[in-house]
Amino acid sequence: MMRMGVMGGTFDPIHYGHLVTAESAYESFHLDHVQFVPVGTPPHKDEEVLTPARHRLAMTRLAVTNNPHFVASSVEVERPGASYTIDTMRYFHEQYGPDVELFFITGVDAIMEIPNWNNAKGLFELCTFIAATRPGYSVERFQAFLSELTPRRRRKIKTLEVPALAISSTDLRRRVREGRSIKYLVPDLVEHYIADHGLYRKSSN
Ligand code: NAP
Repeated sequence: MMRMGVMGGTFDPIHYGHLVTAESAYESFHLDHVQFVPVGTPPHKDEEVLTPARHRLAMTRLAVTNNPHFVASSVEVERPGASYTIDTMRYFHEQYGPDVELFFITGVDAIMEIPNWNNAKGLFELCTFIAATRPGYSVERFQAFLSELTPRRRRKIKTLEVPALAISSTDLRRRVREGRSIKYLVPDLVEHYIADHGLYRKSSN
């Protein structure tokens, strides 16, 4: 069986917290590689306040260049319509065949919303979830969420503590807007891309 990580996120912008999360998942769950999938059109967010998908994909590509077991995927950016995780997981299942075991990696806050996602039932059948936690996240809220799941679903959610997730995209956007440094929080190539394209300078994104 191939064990494949699918790292889903808006990545607005991608930062070292995301990269450390994926590397830690790769190591801890013995994954063969990790596909980074920037959301194309999020069903749950106002598209107008998001950086255009082409920029978020370009930054993701730059961020993964130096890691041989990381890949950036344009599957959600290229797929028309709302980006539903179920469609992405089905896509990877078809691409890699029945011998692939899929692990969907994302932030714990997003994980707690899964029961409300499109075809949550199908998703629990297709993959295992890895919930990346930030320092200071609400353990009680997460435990309460887990306790409401059936034992079968609970077994499909794994927790990954990631101290480096103290970095957040929201904070990075604020820093750029305020003219502050983002050095050592994002890869150099991403820092230069943000500067070259004038991203995050206005409060709209
Ligand atoms: P979000 O609400 O922007 O993020 C929730 C929290 O998780 C934030 O603190 C975020 O921090 C963190 N986070 C996001 N992606 C992460 C990652 N890969 N690793 C570690 N932390 C991460 O969530 P989102 O980015 O929009 O969505 C997360 C994933 O869930 C995406 O793949 C999205 O497509 C999927 N989703 C699917 C559906 C659906 O199918 N109906 C609905 C909602 C979300 P940062 O801001 O620092 O990243």
